[in-house]
Amino acid sequence: MRLAFGLDARVFSGLTLAETNAVTNLITAHYAPPSFVEGDRLRLPEEEARHAVRVLRRRAGDEVVVVDGEGGWYRVRLDRVNKKHASGVILERRINVGEPDYDLTVGIAVLKNPNRFETFLEKAVELGVTTVAPLLTARTEKTVVRASRAQRIMVAAMKQCGRSRLPRFAPPETFANHLDSDPPDLGVICHEKTGPVSLLSALRACPSARRVRVLVGPEGGFTDDEVEAAGRAGYRAVSLGPRRLRAETAGVAAAAAVLLARSDEAR
Ligand code: SAH
Repeated sequence: MRLAFGLDARVFSGLTLAETNAVTNLITAHYAPPSFVEGDRLRLPEEEARHAVRVLRRRAGDEVVVVDGEGGWYRVRLDRVNKKHASGVILERRINVGEPDYDLTVGIAVLKNPNRFETFLEKAVELGVTTVAPLLTARTEKTVVRASRAQRIMVAAMKQCGRSRLPRFAPPETFANHLDSDPPDLGVICHEKTGPVSLLSALRACPSARRVRVLVGPEGGFTDDEVEAAGRAGYRAVSLGPRRLRAETAGVAAAAAVLLARSDEAR
């Protein structure tokens, strides 16, 4: 079996491609943006190298997995390691390891409690969300998100869960602007006062939709005007069940529903 970049997949002596995927996806990866790859060599950024050496006790001769956050996946044999530096030779390159074959944007109101928002971010990465779009809605009380913290949380989650692509973290935008952006194949707005249409039945009704967008409101919920505006923009109002979920729970439940309703075999 030949893979992208023309390298042999049977790296773990005699495993099938599926088995190789299963093994390699479970290894906690290191992170190095694409500019840290030069020819057949890869170097970890200094902070990442410190962590690899001091905490994970990586040594010259160790084989490690490195992801670049843009879909690049590398198996690397370290050969130069000191307290601040870890680099080695690339043994294998793959692309989009651990990535879903659909595109899911979750537009979620900026939450009053940043910890809750950050919990959502971590889970969103694990569940395969491709874009997180923080929204400023009528009842949003806070308008600031800590983008650099968000980035750190997402990188850590990506390395831990076996993804190779960092989800996009969009700059906060107003609800109205978000509705105006490029329409998805299927758009839904989660609203607890909705009738019996569940997110799952909306997904099942559109099995070919690959670009899905889910909207989740703030602690105080969406206003009726917002739900109507979303309806005019082609979004369907959907329920996540009979209980009122906290916003971050609603975001996680919605991402999990999309993941489970769509085939999500790691490539
Ligand atoms: N407005 C509500 C609570 C909002 S919960 C109140 O105070 O009574 C925050 C967001 O989570 C909502 O805007 C909605 O997008 C989502 N949500 C929570 N529970 C939901 C459910 N059962 N069905 C659909 N969406 C839900």
